[in-house]
Amino acid sequence: PKPLVSVRDLKMHFPIHAGLLRRRVGEVKAVDGVSFDVMEGETLGLVGESGCGKSTCGRAVLRLYDITSGAIMIDGEDIGDSTQAQLRTKRPTMQMVFQDPQASLNPRMTVEAIIKEPLDEHTKLTEAEKREKVGELMDAVGLNRQFAKRYPQAFSGGQRQRIGIARALALNPKFIVCDEPIAALDVSIQAQVVNLLEDLQQQFGLTYLFISHDLSMVRHIATRVAVMYLGKIVELAPREALYAEPLHPYTKALLSAVPEPDPSLARASERIILQGDVPSPANPPQGCNFCTRCPAVMDICKTTEPEYKEVRPGRFTACHLYENKTNTAG
Ligand code: SF4
Ligand code: MG
Repeated sequence: PKPLVSVRDLKMHFPIHAGLLRRRVGEVKAVDGVSFDVMEGETLGLVGESGCGKSTCGRAVLRLYDITSGAIMIDGEDIGDSTQAQLRTKRPTMQMVFQDPQASLNPRMTVEAIIKEPLDEHTKLTEAEKREKVGELMDAVGLNRQFAKRYPQAFSGGQRQRIGIARALALNPKFIVCDEPIAALDVSIQAQVVNLLEDLQQQFGLTYLFISHDLSMVRHIATRVAVMYLGKIVELAPREALYAEPLHPYTKALLSAVPEPDPSLARASERIILQGDVPSPANPPQGCNFCTRCPAVMDICKTTEPEYKEVRPGRFTACHLYENKTNTAG
């Protein structure tokens, strides 16, 4: 498979202002030099604890922000420094499903109007054609067409997320960023929404960037998984490889806290409890950004940032433990 999306050295730094004059006193490096590909038709899981920058990264990739720097190739075009006007023509290709369907749906619009809005903005379809398309989208996400004239408040959380998904699908996108799409939903309906996303991916040939803090869910849905810590990707690997044998000490710690789905299997490793808190992204440590908490920290880690690179076929990490293990011959 070839990449549909290629992100290179993406940075999203937010200025911090303080005082009466709102002077700039520093910056938060929410996303700090992130590179990854999303292959056509795959689901790339993007995981990490809250505040690690994964949501910001997903929004930056869709250019919901003016990014600080970096390249974002989507479907053969670099949108890294496209203007909002240029992005308009690219919008249909790339869409977002938000965490909180309550907040992302306009309460004064009917379901039909919500799903139809992107068609109004980006297509020349007639009203009748748009209504038919809305009906098809409601079918596709399992919403009864008879509810088209109702308002979002009349629906359950799971149904509201289906409305958000139908809207995201309206312009036949290729790439969808799903930002914690089930985190706000009752556990009992989370699996339904995940299964729906998987069905739609098959049906429409979609490519997903699936952002989640839920490592069990990502294990279920992702093709490959990228792990973020403090604004950087520390490891990226195919799903099975990552869960079977995490390389980066942070990934090891994260996964050691995930319950083993098959209780008959003994845990391969003990639960690793990390010391200390995640440092502020306004003031990250020198060297490796995990060095203040890493159980395997070495002297070099405190001075020299490890390079993010492929250390085994298909497996990327940024850690001095793997520095000499690259097969430079091939
Ligand atoms: Fe730990 Fe050093 Fe690897 Fe960073 S580079 S994760 S501090 S061993
Ligand atoms: Mg988030």
